[in-house]
Amino acid sequence: MTANININKKDYPISLKKTAIVVCLDGSQKEYFDQALEKNLMPNLKKLIQNGSYLLAHSAIPSFTNPNNISIITGQPSSIHGICGNFFYNSDTNEEVMMNDPKYLRAPTIFEKYYEVNARIAIVTAKDKLLKLLGNGLKYDDQRVISFSAEKSDQATLLENGIENINSWIERPVPNVYSQDLSEFVMASGVKLMKEFKPNILYLSTTDYIQHKYPPGHEVANNFYIMFDKYLGELNAMNVTMIITADHGMKPKSKNDGSPNAVFLQDYLDKAFGKDETKVILPITDPYVVHHGALGSFATIYINNKNIINSVIKEINKIKDIEVVLNNLEACSMYNLPSDRMGDIICMSSEYMTIGSSEKKHNLRDLKEPLRSHGGLHEREVPFIVNKKIKEIDNTKQLYNYDAFYYAILGASQ
Ligand SMILES: [Zn+2]
Repeated sequence: MTANININKKDYPISLKKTAIVVCLDGSQKEYFDQALEKNLMPNLKKLIQNGSYLLAHSAIPSFTNPNNISIITGQPSSIHGICGNFFYNSDTNEEVMMNDPKYLRAPTIFEKYYEVNARIAIVTAKDKLLKLLGNGLKYDDQRVISFSAEKSDQATLLENGIENINSWIERPVPNVYSQDLSEFVMASGVKLMKEFKPNILYLSTTDYIQHKYPPGHEVANNFYIMFDKYLGELNAMNVTMIITADHGMKPKSKNDGSPNAVFLQDYLDKAFGKDETKVILPITDPYVVHHGALGSFATIYINNKNIINSVIKEINKIKDIEVVLNNLEACSMYNLPSDRMGDIICMSSEYMTIGSSEKKHNLRDLKEPLRSHGGLHEREVPFIVNKKIKEIDNTKQLYNYDAFYYAILGASQ
């Protein structure tokens, strides 16, 4: 057996002395940690940082949940693995396609490769939409894999998840999909799996419901981080190398009156170029509309007549709150995106602005609190917290959240 395994052009050590844990704390803008630490609400995290380090990393672009979770579990950006949003637009069939099916995945996951060399793998995610992608290529017939979502914990089977009767096992009912409990379920499961299943690799991925609804320092947000700290302490007390990062940050995107701050780009382009000449796609769109009403800071545009791409770019450049307007080639090379799943133009908005399609297409009725969202460059800075010193982390190079497993595994091998 060789000492290393090559996964998506990186060499990982095969033999692990500890469990390598990555926690992806969805939407965890660094200020959530900072404010909770300042008030001494996270004693376990404080201790963990004293023995390790609190670094900052960039997320993959777009700074959305699925592309970044998949980047984290493949160790590469979406130009390599292909998942660049919740949706992409298939211009051949004129359909908007959900990208949560593994058939859209273009690279093996770190889990899949470690499973092949006999490792034990455990994966717990809050929302079920990610589970199929996270568990791609894994088999459940030899008791070496457990993977499930908190959202559908009551539907897990030995055949498909490697575990059943989860709710009685963890002594928790199925949590509401719009609640803190969904993330707590993930963390509690992680601790129990460490004690009982003893995986070599553990991935825990929470949901950003709280972060979408409450700013850093808010009492509800602080309570979330107090909860998180308790489980962090339990995990850190075990024989683990753990990295805590986020899939993306989170910024306030509302006007003073509390209504969402958005440029409705489809309406704007219809007016300038005529109806059906351009198609604005928002890859943040997903079934969980209560979080963000499908308003994020990233959009891609398909143009009917390719001769007018430059004119459309020029027209969008007049909107001061859209900061990035690039053609497909430039954007894909600059931000490591898969060009065949992106439109002719890629746009990102300014810090407190979102991009919508047509105003009438957005159902904003369910947004109770002022909009907080993500997707662009202003939400790509994320915490990267390591529970021990790892000398291989090079401070002179840009660190990415999708380096998390690389360093967690390296740390666990030492
Ligand atoms: Zn997210």
